[in-house]
Amino acid sequence: MGKETTFYELAPIVDACWGRAFELTKEDRTSYAVNLGDEAQGMAPACDCVGFLRWGHRGPCRHRGTVLDYTDFLRRTVHGPRADA
Ligand SMILES: [Zn+2]
Repeated sequence: MGKETTFYELAPIVDACWGRAFELTKEDRTSYAVNLGDEAQGMAPACDCVGFLRWGHRGPCRHRGTVLDYTDFLRRTVHGPRADA
């Protein structure tokens, strides 16, 4: 997949109503609020970008994808990989 590289500042939104939310700020200072949702509470993930509003039902927009990549990166670096074998 030919992905163009966009850099974002990523900050957690601590007062999110539910789930885990992050604010993504692009170099041009455009910012997007991404919520990863909370499956346990039946809350769907969301983003306030145009792409999500239009196409969000088809899959994650690039902002949610970016946050997912980041949290996945954290999981792998903080909790592992561990050589327990
Ligand atoms: Zn988005």
